[in-house]
Formats: sequence, C-alpha cells, structure tokens
Amino acid sequence: TDDDRALIDGFQEEAEEEDEGPLPVVAIVGRPNVGKSTFVNRVLRRRAAVVEDTPGVTRDRVAYEAEWSGRRFTLIDTGGWARQAAGIDLRVAEQAEMGVEMADVVVLVVDAIVGATDDDEAVVRLLRRSGKPVVLVANKVDDQRFEADAAALWNLGLGEPWPVSALHGRGSGDVLDAVLDVLPEVSQVAQVIPDGPRRVALVGRPNVGKSSLLNKLARADRVVVDDVAGTTRDPVDEIVELDGRPWRFVDTAGIRRRVHQTRGADFYASLRTQAALEKAEVAVVLIDAEEPIAEQDLRVVGQVVDAGRALVIAYNKWDLLDEERRYYLEREIERDLVQVQWAPRVNISARTGRHTDRLVPALDTALDSWDTRIPTSRLNALLGEIVAGHPHPVRGGKQPRILFATQASTRPPRFVIFASGFLEAGYRRFLERRLREEFGFAGTPIEVSVRVRE
Ligand code: GDP
Ligand code: GDP
Repeated sequence: TDDDRALIDGFQEEAEEEDEGPLPVVAIVGRPNVGKSTFVNRVLRRRAAVVEDTPGVTRDRVAYEAEWSGRRFTLIDTGGWARQAAGIDLRVAEQAEMGVEMADVVVLVVDAIVGATDDDEAVVRLLRRSGKPVVLVANKVDDQRFEADAAALWNLGLGEPWPVSALHGRGSGDVLDAVLDVLPEVSQVAQVIPDGPRRVALVGRPNVGKSSLLNKLARADRVVVDDVAGTTRDPVDEIVELDGRPWRFVDTAGIRRRVHQTRGADFYASLRTQAALEKAEVAVVLIDAEEPIAEQDLRVVGQVVDAGRALVIAYNKWDLLDEERRYYLEREIERDLVQVQWAPRVNISARTGRHTDRLVPALDTALDSWDTRIPTSRLNALLGEIVAGHPHPVRGGKQPRILFATQASTRPPRFVIFASGFLEAGYRRFLERRLREEFGFAGTPIEVSVRVRE
C-alpha cells in the first residue's frame, strides 16, 4: 500500500544517512593529567543507544566508536595509552604524533588553570605541521570565574579555545559541535585513490614474521616505486607488485624500523597496529604457527574486526611445524578463533616462500566481500523467510516484529534492521549468522544494528 511505501521510503532515507566507508577519526591529545580520558568518557557516556553486537574478543582499547548528533566516528584516547603503558616513558610529543597520524581531526586538551606549558607548545608545533584541523579545549573551566584562563590560550595560535569542564560536562557539547563542523563524512586517513592500489596492512605481534614476509613479497616481484599514480606521497608505504598488480602495503616503516623495547613492547605494537589499520582496507594478520596462539594474537584480530577492515589470517613459519604441532594448532584455532572462522586462511612460510602465492587470492576474496552490496529487495525477502521460520521469542507477552532492513553501507557491510521492539542479542547473532550463510562475506566483518520503531 501507499502507507507501507511511505514508511519504507522513510526507513531507507534514514538508513542512507549512515556514512559510507571508514568512520572518520578524532584523536584526543595533550599532556598527562589535563583531562583527556575524562573528556573521552564524557563523550562515550553521551553516546546514543545504538544496539550492537560486540564479539567477546578481549583487548585493551586504543580506539572507541562514538556518536554525537547522529554522526558516528572513531575516538582515539591517547590518555588511555599512557595508562596502559604504565611505567613506560611515552613522550607527550610522540604520543600526540601517533594520534595525529591516525586522525582526521585532532582535539588538543590543555589545562586552562595551569596554562600553556612548553610541552603544550611542542604539541602545538607538531599539530601545525600536520595541517589537520585542530579543536582547542581549555579544560578544567569548572565555572565562569575561570573563563579568563581559557581565553589566555588564544596565545597558542590555534584559534578559539573552547572552555570546558570535562569533569562536570560544561561546554563539552559545544566542543563536539565544533568537531563535527570540521569532521569529514568518511575518514580521509584511509582515503582510497580511485583505481589506485588496494591498501594492505601486515599486522601481528612482534616476531611473527611481518618484515620477513614483506621482504619475501617485495623480492619475489618487482618493486614499483614511481610508476603507479599517487604512490610517491607516503614514504611509510611500499608498493609491491603481486600477480601483476600493484598493492600498497601501508605503514611499513613501522615494520622496517623495529622498535627495540622490552617493557611495553605489546603496547607499542597495538598502537602501530591501529595506525596501520586506519590506513588500510584489508589486514593480513600473521600468526606464528609454531607457537601456541596467544592472547596478543587474538587482540590483533579483535582490532581488525573493530576497525571494520577486511581480514585474512596467515599462519606463518609453516616450515617449522611437525605433525604434533599441527594437531594442536587446529585445536587452538577451533577454540580461540571461531568468531572469525569467516576469514580466509593461508598457511605460509615467509622463509621458504611456501604458499605465499595464495595470499593474493585470499586478499581478493576478502576485499570483494568487504565491497559487497546486497540489494534491499533481496535482503528483505531473505529476512522475511528467516523470520517466518524462526520468529523472535515472545517475552512478557510481546514479540518484536522486524519491519524492514537495509544495507546502510559497504566497506564493511553494515546492516540496519528496523524492528517494533528490542531484539535480543541471541536473536541478532542468529540473524547475522543467517546473513553469512546466505551471502558468505568471507573475509569481512559485518555489522548488524537495530533501530526500534513503535
Ligand atoms: P589525562 O591524563 O589527560 O587523560 O587526564 P585525566 O582525564 O586522567 O584527568 C586527570 C585529573 O584531572 C583527574 O583527577 C580528573 O578528575 C581531573 N579533571 C579532568 N577534567 C577536569 C575538569 O574539567 N575539572 C577539574 N576540576 N578536574 C578535572
Ligand atoms: P616481525 O617482528 O613480525 O617483523 O618478525 P620478523 O620478520 O623479524 O621475524 C622474526 C623471526 O622469525 C626472524 O628470526 C625470522 O627469520 C623468523 N621467521 C620469519 N618467518 C619465518 C618462517 O616462515 N619460517 C621460519 N623458520 N622462520 C621465520
């Protein structure tokens, strides 16, 4: 009927407001104790209640998904990094630099009561060089009496300081509005040059063989530097030709320039991973097949899924495996990596080159899935069948109905389901499983969110 049509058009419009492509990134930087984490917590607490399934992969967060005024973005709390890296000398500028590298917009938090220090000024210089938009927060302005302290920060030359009390919430909404004003719809950090080489991140904990694999791949084929459009700009990337096509391996400087650090090495590794993921479309997670799968391997996998990037898992050092280890490896994979059993798997040896030729087909599969768009009509026909066969359980005499579904974006595929009531987590997982059964999505995370309409 016409009424239905109008309703569906409304849903469609609402869903299409969703961003296409990687979420834009906001990094919060500044000296220790200025209130970065307090500010981040305030932003996250205000987040609109979007219902989502988060698979239970444990990890230390370096990035969060946030929402303000209906726009979603990734929020990076460099203050949280310092705490995770307890006991490590993470210089303020170094920390800010990494935040900036990953971000589309930077929020510099300064303690207005203390005023600008040398460290603050060092960070300001770095921000200027980066050319990224900066929003300056004058924090700890708990009441009007301190507004003059905030105004003094005009001196930093970053434009208007926003007076905020992260602790009490004062002014934080205005800051977020200012951030949204300069925030792009889609992350520019990962901006893909049309028809340019696809962007691959090689990630994994230290010593799994990332640099060995990069060397092997770069040596096996010609390394193209100048003759691919738009490839000379970022010196931290390497262009490697595989199967007759150029691929951009992002952030390889982080792989080549090995950080020799005993304390906090894990922590640095997870920052490096995050930086690489922000720039990549697909990640190859290397796992040392010779060693038991570790918590840190799972954390890297979790980071890829959270970042919404396509995923290939490469079990490296296959040349070292005996019968027994192979047996245990399979058991470990079944136990620890069931949640990503959709990821293409390759068993390789960066040393001998075994099966490294299987990486490209796996990358192609993952990227195809990542790019997939399911027509709305097909999606709704399928959901209709699924729901008819397995309706949502009745709770307290009520049964939520599924009204309509649409794919809001690709890269990765994100689905929005409009329902007449809250859908239980178990049921949402069931729907997600059925979507995978039907459409495959090998190599890509998918996201299913639910909007409730009475
Ligand atoms: P970070 O190291 O920059 O992440 O700083 P934190 O968020 O951990 O905050 C450092 C200290 O400053 C904590 O004791 C906070 O409670 C306090 N703080 C943060 N924001 C405010 C604020 O707006 N007003 C006041 N008075 N204290 C604040
Ligand atoms: P990264 O820290 O992840 O970059 O790891 P590297 O590439 O530096 O490798 C760590 C160690 O593992 C080095 O001693 C490599 O020679 C070794 N290695 C890497 N790949 C393989 C492999 O496929 N087989 C064997 N036997 N050793 C490997």
